[in-house]
Amino acid sequence: MCYAIPGKVVSIEKDIAVIDYFGETKKARADLVTPQVGEYVYAQGGFIVNLIPEKEATKILEAWKEMFFHLKQSDEAQAKIREHRVSKEFKIIINKAAQTSNLTKDEAVRLLKTTDSEELKLLFETANQVRHRDLGNACCVHGIIEFSNHCTKSCSYCGLRNQNTNLQRYRMTPEQIINVAEKATQDLGFKAFVLQSGEDEFYSDDMLVKVIKEIQTKCGALVFVSVGNRSKKSYQKFYDAGARAVLIRFESSNPKIYSNVHNDSSLEERLQLIKNAEEISFLIATGSLIGLPNQTEEDIVEDLFLTRELGTEMYSFGPFLPHPDTPLANQSKPSLDLVLKTLAVARLLDPEAKILITTALETLVPEGKRLGLISGGNSLMINVTPQSYKELYSIYPNKAGTKDEIEQAVDSTVSLLKSLGRAPTDLGV
Ligand code: SAH
Ligand code: SF4
Repeated sequence: MCYAIPGKVVSIEKDIAVIDYFGETKKARADLVTPQVGEYVYAQGGFIVNLIPEKEATKILEAWKEMFFHLKQSDEAQAKIREHRVSKEFKIIINKAAQTSNLTKDEAVRLLKTTDSEELKLLFETANQVRHRDLGNACCVHGIIEFSNHCTKSCSYCGLRNQNTNLQRYRMTPEQIINVAEKATQDLGFKAFVLQSGEDEFYSDDMLVKVIKEIQTKCGALVFVSVGNRSKKSYQKFYDAGARAVLIRFESSNPKIYSNVHNDSSLEERLQLIKNAEEISFLIATGSLIGLPNQTEEDIVEDLFLTRELGTEMYSFGPFLPHPDTPLANQSKPSLDLVLKTLAVARLLDPEAKILITTALETLVPEGKRLGLISGGNSLMINVTPQSYKELYSIYPNKAGTKDEIEQAVDSTVSLLKSLGRAPTDLGV
């Protein structure tokens, strides 16, 4: 987004470029846009998405220079571990996690089960420190466009499920979707978009291919697809059109929990989708819902280990929030601490991952975004769906930011990131 810093390519080897940001280097894939050594680029999610003329880049870099070093210092000062009175046994697990990231499942469960306030502080601060140590203050911010709320599926937790007749349905035209992305790029400087919808066959592969191609080339942006169940052939077409990332959660790694909330698909099928995307070389964003019925801390740890095993670059774990027009209307939401503990343990298990702070966390508690960012998180999404549709994309009720204008959301996010000392350099691969 506007909060973005260009970098200079210092070397390229086999489609991987090394990019310099004020003396710090990050790697990025150079298969979407292929720069020459010495050229200036924007990278997003570990992909070079755009070339920038040297004159323009040096002007932007000059404007950022002082702020960049100030942010770095600020993050360093905030990512400290303080003294906490915890048991020796807890301390040993935390130290092991920080040093090796090689926790056993039992140790991860122990961390996830703690309710002791001193242990919680140590867990969150360690996750934040590991994030700072391995990835610095880089933070990515993507725009999400929720282009259709039609869905043929009936996931028990989701307000878009086809049985919900209380919802007014909408579809954006391909032109509308492209225009939204173009406007968000031109006016607000977004450089990555997630195209998300219910399972909606109204959009043929060709229609989505056109949208992806136009957004990728006109906006110079990284395109994520989050459209659920499509064949491997379809996903290959999306990749060939320029999409480079998919957001597909497996929702729960426990087949019983999964089948309890999905009567029209199996966990196996869902995992196959993710494996297909991985084989095509997509960046994978996946994870689970925290707080599904009968889910235990042991299940969440299994979800985290599975996410790592799948070779996931971006962890997407967020709270389940009950929707009144679904069979799970009376289920309770998870606690804030459980969600933050999940993000923190994810960071300790996979220090170099991109860990997303979901809008659902912000909806659970207003300060969720900030708390998530200081408990291991380093990726955000801002909803750029047109105002008239936002409210209708009601996967859960009272979604945070639904009433905000996009400009407002961008301003408050930039202020938050600055206050935390986070810089918009790419997280790299
Ligand atoms: N149809 C696609 C993408 C849209 S749904 C798909 O299912 O993959 C995107 C995500 O919304 C889902 O993966 C699910 O985890 C989340 N979601 C749905 N209902 C929710 C709820 N009640 N609370 C929190 N997240 C929810
Ligand atoms: Fe449809 Fe996705 Fe909601 Fe399931 S989670 S009902 S597939 S929009």
